[in-house]
Amino acid sequence: MNQAPYQCQCIDCRSELASAIAQEHRMINQLVRMLNEKQRRQFVGLLAKQAGYGGIQRMAQITGLHRATIARGQGELEEAQAEEGRIRRQGGGRQLIEKKSRSYCPS
Ligand SMILES: [Zn+2]
Repeated sequence: MNQAPYQCQCIDCRSELASAIAQEHRMINQLVRMLNEKQRRQFVGLLAKQAGYGGIQRMAQITGLHRATIARGQGELEEAQAEEGRIRRQGGGRQLIEKKSRSYCPS
């Protein structure tokens, strides 16, 4: 995968390449380039979710990914979350042990 990162065409990147927003967009695209297809759509899906309303549209512009691809990644993430929730409920009680243990460190 040696191609150059996707160049965002948003107003910030076109007008002020040194701005914090333009830098952030370049970082996102550098990272996106290193991911495989599944990781890419899920990562961008997460960013779109964080961006809130209009996030998918915005991330499509920044990364060049199709809106449907980003929406799919978001859906996969949400499904994975729901799955994790089911597993946690099944294995109840483990959290108590961790709370009692002094050596438990969340980092
Ligand atoms: Zn941009």
